[in-house]
Amino acid sequence: MAVSSSSPSESEAPGELRFRGIPVSPGIAFGDVHFQTKRFARPRTWPVEDLQVEEEIARLTEVIVSTRKEIEQLKEQLVSQGGDPSEAHVFDAHLLVLEDCTVIQEVTDMVRSDRMNVESVYYKVIRRYLDSLRKVDDPYLRERAVDIEDVAGRVLEHLKDKVDPKPGGVKQQQRAHVLYAHDLTPSDTVHMDRKSVLGFATELGSNTSHTAIMARSLAIPGVVGLNIPRGCLQFGQEVILDGYNGLLIVGPKKDTREEYRTLAIKQNELNLRLETLRDEAAATADGHAITLSANIEFGHEVEQANRDGAAGVGLYRTEFFYFQQNKHPDEDQQAAVYSSIAKSVDPDGVIIRTLDVGADKFYTDGRHAEPNPFLGWRGIRVSLLETEVFKTQLRACLRASAAGKVRIMYPMISGIEELRQANAILKECQGELCAQGIAFDENLEVGCMIELPSAAVMAHLLAKEVDFFSIGTNDLIQYTIAVDRVNERVAHLYQPGHPAILRLLQTIVSAAHNNGIWVGVCGEMAGDTLYTPILVGLGVDELSVGPNQILRLKHALNHLDSHECQSLIAELLAMQTADEIDARCREMALTNYGDFFQ
Ligand code: PEP
Ligand code: MG
Repeated sequence: MAVSSSSPSESEAPGELRFRGIPVSPGIAFGDVHFQTKRFARPRTWPVEDLQVEEEIARLTEVIVSTRKEIEQLKEQLVSQGGDPSEAHVFDAHLLVLEDCTVIQEVTDMVRSDRMNVESVYYKVIRRYLDSLRKVDDPYLRERAVDIEDVAGRVLEHLKDKVDPKPGGVKQQQRAHVLYAHDLTPSDTVHMDRKSVLGFATELGSNTSHTAIMARSLAIPGVVGLNIPRGCLQFGQEVILDGYNGLLIVGPKKDTREEYRTLAIKQNELNLRLETLRDEAAATADGHAITLSANIEFGHEVEQANRDGAAGVGLYRTEFFYFQQNKHPDEDQQAAVYSSIAKSVDPDGVIIRTLDVGADKFYTDGRHAEPNPFLGWRGIRVSLLETEVFKTQLRACLRASAAGKVRIMYPMISGIEELRQANAILKECQGELCAQGIAFDENLEVGCMIELPSAAVMAHLLAKEVDFFSIGTNDLIQYTIAVDRVNERVAHLYQPGHPAILRLLQTIVSAAHNNGIWVGVCGEMAGDTLYTPILVGLGVDELSVGPNQILRLKHALNHLDSHECQSLIAELLAMQTADEIDARCREMALTNYGDFFQ
């Protein structure tokens, strides 16, 4: 989908307000708006009379019980919704934090001695723990701060409900709603009750930001880059989120509701038509086959990918598995999860991308807080320094390769030295497993992402030392054009159709093919059917997209002619601007698969 620039809010009919942002995930959501707020915030403070002291303490005891129920419900909900069972462990850790006797005793003593309301004392005690935890060097302890903040936020919210109940209380938070947030980080979405969110609307973000990728993966509408003046949007207000046109409509009038209901019905009909393609081949009309695989962040996403006929997993972003845990998952835990994914996509297999933390995928404990995080300590740079963490992951991948087809892929490779270092560590792990008599696939393929301009330029050398390339256009575009991929202010400059990108893609594909290796694209450009003619024309062998995009992309491929796409490349190379390139691609998309092209 093309990215339009964000514009200020605009008023429509009386009583109805329309705000325009950037459309990042198609669909229409009708519902009440909820806000993603920071729950762990300083509460109101007031003194309590001597006679009220025990009542205050009793409030805390009651709230601990109701918070326990809430956490247990979340855990059950996650399991019953088919979530990854390993995600559920985080809730067990939360229960331990919730019922920590030292904290409860300290709060109780302080309410008695200071005669202050229990929420202000609880906040003070937890704040002190958090401040000291965040100063320690041990990453495990620093990560505990995230859990403590999460649990303490829930406790404070329940305490607030007891004094100042909202209609529906906590249950209302779980009702289906459109979520409005300043931004949604990977950690936010890992811990949220995803089933109750009908759509994402955020102030920050762009087409390749995590919010956008997540919305597309959940098949819910997403609009980012919204700029809503204070007072124009209230918690619980009725809204329509239009992920096709990038609109958030607040207090829609009757005609608008009807117009959107009709549109939603039409879209559902189109989606039903797409479902008939599940068993069709991913090939162009003239029979040129392309491997169509899925990008996943969570193991359970494999189900939809398989249902829609994906050829395995082309990108498993393992960061999210790490974020779900309180500490880095150990080798056995990782091997179990990777093996189960590999088995579920057999014989096509899974490409496991080694940890790509840093930049937009950060832990909330601040260890990746840097002045220029996208240019900082990220991806393979972290793995090559934290070699024990890297080796644990590599050994787990190798062990999983005995259960089903696994390929390993390194992120953020900038040149040949990093690739060689990573491969040397992998060899070390293979040697260790051999010595221990642990089975793994000795022919396991190893690839690297091409997502930095330096790697694109050096692709002819990198291709000699790997089995495949996967082009990460999200980063390749941001680093080539110097446009922050998550900054809505410069989102209009983020141009997959930029002539420089076209040339870099051509360089990478030729380098791969000249050296006899295959090349895929796993960035968001792969799923944007505006650019399918380019990727087919360049001769890309594999496209890996969110599970929800498989059928739409298959439909586009089925309606293109590969020779026409090849001729298109020569035409596009003669063009000087992204606008010209986009216009020509749009023309081709509309002619060939206009009914499914927004
Ligand atoms: C990319 O950069 O295109 C990519 C697929 O990786 P990520 O979006 O996870 O950075
Ligand atoms: Mg990337």
